[in-house]
Amino acid sequence: MNMIYFDHAATTKPLPEVLETFQKESLLHFGNASSMHAVGFEANKALDKAREDILNALGVMKTHQCLFVSGASEANNLAIKGIAFRYKNRGNTIIASEGEHPSVKVAFEQLASSFGFHVIFLPLTKEGHVDPSALKEAMSKDVILVSIMAVNNETGAISPIKELSSILKDYPKALFHVDATQGLGKCPLPFEDIDLLSFSAHKIGGLKGSGALIYRRKIDFLPLISGGMQEFGYRSGTPAEPLAVSTALAVKLALANQGKNIEKAKQINAYLRENLSKIEEVQINSPENGIPFVLNISLKKHRASVVIEALSEKEIYVSSVSSCSNKLDASSYVLASMGFDSFRCANSIRISFGGEDTIEEAEAFVTAFKTVLEETRPI
Ligand code: PMP
Repeated sequence: MNMIYFDHAATTKPLPEVLETFQKESLLHFGNASSMHAVGFEANKALDKAREDILNALGVMKTHQCLFVSGASEANNLAIKGIAFRYKNRGNTIIASEGEHPSVKVAFEQLASSFGFHVIFLPLTKEGHVDPSALKEAMSKDVILVSIMAVNNETGAISPIKELSSILKDYPKALFHVDATQGLGKCPLPFEDIDLLSFSAHKIGGLKGSGALIYRRKIDFLPLISGGMQEFGYRSGTPAEPLAVSTALAVKLALANQGKNIEKAKQINAYLRENLSKIEEVQINSPENGIPFVLNISLKKHRASVVIEALSEKEIYVSSVSSCSNKLDASSYVLASMGFDSFRCANSIRISFGGEDTIEEAEAFVTAFKTVLEETRPI
């Protein structure tokens, strides 16, 4: 058996056609897209075409603009800090959920501790998403930004984006940012209802170090990277045109294959859910109605970190809390917000797969998982 890579929520292998495009674009359009000559103009044309391709794929060509960045962490920071600093005169309150990725959560905390913003973190329900009534209650005329992720990176829980955005319609000063990194290509999203949307290309078969911030055209930001005024003045630096074109292709493929990939993932998810829940010490943390690509579980008698290491020795790869925190033993603040006890939060395993994965891999995973539990010492 080949290795089993069940860590797609951390990153995916680049698609061959994306790599080919990157190489082709790097050689064909090597010019600086800002240069005032034909080689530069050609690169700039390809860059603009990549923007249009993404906006058309999302169905927001008329209303939104696409800004290329290094990934979702940068897109989130630009959306949140850029908006907070730009519209500070309109209000001082910003709202996020307790389950946000660190690139959102820490940005909010920084805005509170260093810049005096009033920050409200909404708790998650047992199913791992924000209750729209909690947002409704927290809203006021002082709110300038609400940031809620489309899909949680640890549990796969889907946020009710449409309902949340409709609450904001009564608050025209409040902009709605959605970190769609784990949702793009994984579930249908109401792109037209979102003011600012972040994603990373490497979660959908694109390249690491690339992604975009999609934003409604009427929105202005305070730039975080100042310089030569590239990317409409919001993100200076020589544009990475080959990455942008590769990102556009990854987005188009992810959306075109979304339905097919969801159906395949549903089968794997159902198999894992059924067979892992038969193991006495396994508790399932992911909600039934989340994206099918992620199954989060906790262990009652073993340290998740020890089990993950033992699986890794068998060439089976999964994550603990989240690969973003870099600490194998960290406890999950996402699961804590869902109301789980501290042992359950400290012993979670995230199994995440993609459209290419098979039921045979899921079967081999369950067999190896049982063996590891037998072979490793319980706590
Ligand atoms: N948001 C979410 C929900 C994520 O899962 C991730 C990646 N783990 C990020 C943001 C950050 O993406 P990147 O590391 O590519 O900047």
